[in-house]
Amino acid sequence: MIILHTIKETRDFLAKQRKSGKSIGLVPTMGALHQGHISLTNKSVTENDLTISSIYVNPVQFNNPEDFKNYPIMLESDAQMLEAAGCNAIFAPSHEEMYPNGFENLFTSMEFDSLSSTLEGEQRPGHFSGVGVVVSKLFNIVAPNRAYFGQKDMQQLAIISQMNTDLSFGIEIVRCPTVREKDGLAMSSRNRRLNPKERAAAPTLYQSMLKACEHIANGGDVIEAKEIGKKQILEEKLFGLEYFEFVHTDSLEKLKEKITLDKMAICLAAQLGSARLIDNFWLKDYLIRK
Ligand code: AMP
Repeated sequence: MIILHTIKETRDFLAKQRKSGKSIGLVPTMGALHQGHISLTNKSVTENDLTISSIYVNPVQFNNPEDFKNYPIMLESDAQMLEAAGCNAIFAPSHEEMYPNGFENLFTSMEFDSLSSTLEGEQRPGHFSGVGVVVSKLFNIVAPNRAYFGQKDMQQLAIISQMNTDLSFGIEIVRCPTVREKDGLAMSSRNRRLNPKERAAAPTLYQSMLKACEHIANGGDVIEAKEIGKKQILEEKLFGLEYFEFVHTDSLEKLKEKITLDKMAICLAAQLGSARLIDNFWLKDYLIRK
């Protein structure tokens, strides 16, 4: 596995691979890898001749400077995990390489209309602009055939899919299911920040979504199901709940009433100690699970 640090060496390396007819899969990450990231890598390895993972903690998508400062960096162990998963290359650029004029002086910003003004967009101003910019840069640098994103970041996936269409990148965007710990907690690099008490409380988020889904599946309405889910989280005093919403899986529009169950999902965000956790669950998956 080769580790590349500059845009030029990455482009040169990939141009050679492309010339020899290889298909390229890109797995963008911010590092501090876990089995969720590795599931994306595994999928790319099976579907492409060459897999490249980017590891870059993108400053312009952080609206909270403390979150950026504390984001874990562990390139060496990340590289070991990626190599073991069959990844062929890592693109790990410096901030200077990605933002030569300084990331504080970035001119370009992006908007995604109703997809970015709701949920995470309401809580994290500028976040999706930063995501859109860095993913566009990665798409331009790597020009992959396929790019792999996790369902865990459902809103990000919706935005990137739309951006890929709107800006004619022509990349196949591959949606990968959320990987969870045995107790239901969605894997996240931010889980490392939880102390033992917080870690023990964390699966409540998953349980609250199952409970709300159960209410809907049993014929209950959206407002009640939302209250049931929220109540379960708020009973655990360690949580600061930011939102718990039923949304349309495609438009992300917040729902007050039931629609076809196939198109309903729950999205939530909560602060737990110093970690801000997000998760989502689709009614369809609840019904399959039953
Ligand atoms: P991040 O490093 O957090 O920016 O995540 C990089 C990619 O991994 C994104 O596409 C995430 O959606 C995905 N990802 C993160 N956690 C998980 C998980 N638990 N299951 C599946 N994909 C994940």
